[in-house]
Amino acid sequence: MSNILSSRLIILGSGPAGLTAAIYAARAGLSPVVIQGIQPGGQLTTTTDVENYPGFREVIQGPWLVEEMQAQAEHVGTKMVWDHINEVDVSRRPFVLKGDSGEYHADALVIATGAQAKWLGLPSEEHMKGRGASACATCDGFFYRGKKVAVIGGGNTAVEEALYLTNHSHDVTLIHRRDSLRAEKILQERLFAHPGITLMWDSEVVEFVGGGQPEALVGLDVRNVKTGEVSRLEVEGAFVAIGHHPATELFAGKLALDEDGYLKVETGSTRTSVPGVFACGDVMDKIYRQAVTAAGTGCMAALDAERFLAEVEFEALEAAE
Ligand code: FAD
Ligand code: NAP
Repeated sequence: MSNILSSRLIILGSGPAGLTAAIYAARAGLSPVVIQGIQPGGQLTTTTDVENYPGFREVIQGPWLVEEMQAQAEHVGTKMVWDHINEVDVSRRPFVLKGDSGEYHADALVIATGAQAKWLGLPSEEHMKGRGASACATCDGFFYRGKKVAVIGGGNTAVEEALYLTNHSHDVTLIHRRDSLRAEKILQERLFAHPGITLMWDSEVVEFVGGGQPEALVGLDVRNVKTGEVSRLEVEGAFVAIGHHPATELFAGKLALDEDGYLKVETGSTRTSVPGVFACGDVMDKIYRQAVTAAGTGCMAALDAERFLAEVEFEALEAAE
């Protein structure tokens, strides 16, 4: 491949984690290159109102927030590249990344490829996204104050989201496909004890039902998997919480991943199992998964990368003398 771009630091991903890493790295004089991927700006470009990112009294828009982050990163000296990476070699430095449009060589790499919420895959669910179907109660729960809502799933995330939603709604239904939850016991105990939460066992959602003008969610058609009976549950918000998959396919067998496929980092740092490769944001965080935490670990990754480069460059200088 003829088109090779070399940089001291490459940041893979342009969500809040990657862009924050870029701002810090550029201000440290590392002239970073951000490879944006097929979703420039990341997950926040898929939402509208963001009300929990600090610093803004008014409601802001997700796409606007990441546009501002990108503008700030470019302003301080980041080079943005539109490409999607299909192959990485982190077995030796410089690390090599191969994309649709070119090849990239880097002395240090920050991985900020994020994670995507899993969805049920129903056409009606796709249609109701942004109209009542959400995959993030922390982000969107506030919009359903005083309304009936449902959560779909039976893991920690679903139970946490159901409990969280009781801050806004007195009528939360948890819909789970089996008759027992996989969430931790302590979370289950809190869930069962909560008067505002109803459990719908052995049930799967077969249809997201819209109505009104402008169209919004009015209910879910739910099938009992034991009896086959379908009933309508009237809700205005439905939160799909059936897991996330981190974007780590590129790194399988090359970097240490945990049992859920997230990049493993040393506690208290962003260092992965390969020196010089750092990870930040949702790709290494299965618990918090917020824009502000992604930005926070993005900052950490840039500082870790800067330290790493200073050390190896100093060693190289000493060896040359
Ligand atoms: P992402 O935002 O997922 O960005 C990943 C980046 O990596 C993308 O740019 C993508 O193109 C790139 N990438 C992936 N693979 C490759 C590849 N192979 N090559 C090149 N690039 C690649 N959080 C809040 O704090 N407040 C909210 O209100 C809020 N609302 C949300 C609403 C929705 C609908 C969703 C889905 C999430 C919401 N979140 C919210 C969560 C927040 O968006 C995420 O926590 C945050 O975006 C994670 O940032 P990240 O940079 O780690 O990853
Ligand atoms: P998870 O543990 O994989 O649970 C996903 C749940 O969704 C399961 O109950 C599963 O049902 C259900 N599900 C999956 N696909 C479905 C489908 N197509 N239709 C209907 N239901 C479906 O995912 P998670 O809850 O997001 O947790 C992911 C990881 O993060 C876990 O390791 C978890 O412990 C961790 N986590 C930890 C915390 C915390 O420590 N506080 C918080 C959140 C997440 P089945 O049970 O039938 O398989």
